[in-house]
Amino acid sequence: MQTLFANALIVDATRSEPQLGNVLVENGLIKDLDAKQSPAEGRHIVDLRGRTLMPGLIDCHVHVVASLMNLAANAQLPDPIALLRSLPIMRGMLERGFTTVRDVGGAPFALAEAIEQGLAEGPRLITCGKALSKTGGHTDFRARNDTHDPYRWEGKVGALGRIADGVDEIRRAARQELRQGARFIKIMANGGVGSPTDPIAWLGYSVDEITAAVQEARDAQTYVSAHVYTAQAIKRAIQCGVHSLEHCNIIDEEAANMAASAGAVAVPTLVIYEALAQDGERLGLSPASIEKIGDVRNSGLGSLEILRRAGVSMAYGTDLLGEAHERQNEEFAIRARVLPPRDIFASATTVAAKLLGMERQVGCIAENYFADILVVEGNPLEDITLLSRPDQTLQLVMKAGRIYHNYLE
Ligand code: ZN
Ligand code: ZN
Repeated sequence: MQTLFANALIVDATRSEPQLGNVLVENGLIKDLDAKQSPAEGRHIVDLRGRTLMPGLIDCHVHVVASLMNLAANAQLPDPIALLRSLPIMRGMLERGFTTVRDVGGAPFALAEAIEQGLAEGPRLITCGKALSKTGGHTDFRARNDTHDPYRWEGKVGALGRIADGVDEIRRAARQELRQGARFIKIMANGGVGSPTDPIAWLGYSVDEITAAVQEARDAQTYVSAHVYTAQAIKRAIQCGVHSLEHCNIIDEEAANMAASAGAVAVPTLVIYEALAQDGERLGLSPASIEKIGDVRNSGLGSLEILRRAGVSMAYGTDLLGEAHERQNEEFAIRARVLPPRDIFASATTVAAKLLGMERQVGCIAENYFADILVVEGNPLEDITLLSRPDQTLQLVMKAGRIYHNYLE
């Protein structure tokens, strides 16, 4: 089966100018950018008449099993319910143009396999299993007076994380996640909004503990991603060798310069704080969490400027929970207030692909890459905000050669 996108205006972050082409897709891969337009047996021709053809989007910070905004309640969902509730979330991501996502806590590797096998529809999933957190850290969702065992959530589909304290437990937990298919290790290295007993400024893990996680990840040829907000937490994480810095809302210049020289990647997720501030209370976020939103929301746009000035690579992230998932593309418009369109475009394509270690497979329109293709009206390198309105601008979504959404025909 072949698909030929005729008269396409190819746009990606590796080209300085859009390029006219006829893009041939075969067996799930991009085969040719300048194919002959002739009809052939088994060939589906889609005439784009000069519309933009671009790579599928990549979101580097999602939680596909987070179907409730209250993460304690989410962790307690019965497994079949938690799993079934993740299906429309994943389908929605694909409909919005995201063909690959990195799940930074919650999704089991089996869910990624289910998608590859066609048992569920969704973006290609890059998973880490459960995020690791200390007792009282960002995945310890017990209320202050709850003294029950926090390990009881460990195996639950709806739990985003698990508790691991001390070097030995961290090594064991990291090894278990890697054995079960984790492509990287996620740790909670700062306080968080969604957890009740850890103020934002608290550091999540000691130097020894983070270093142990980094060693385990490196031994498995991969890296650690850390949930971090404050400059102090970011600096500690970088010093211990963490590669992927999530959120970074309260970063300072010194921490940003350290990130740049270490070659670390930042994954800001500003849209979640808008969603929590506007809808958190209505959607069941606890009062303890609502109190913490302002601490991170107000410094969000400033953090993007600090990261850009220091030259830190930024990947696209959203971190949305529950009903807020539908705001996944709003991050484009938020970043557009401070960053140039080409940088934002790269954050959701080439920069993200590199962070995933998939820069030879996804993120641009080139031969032998996965045929992850979007057709959009207009040029996002001139107006990136058109990607924030997929209901108006996104006309076709193809993942690995299969069309999931088509408003052209
Ligand atoms: Zn986080
Ligand atoms: Zn997250």
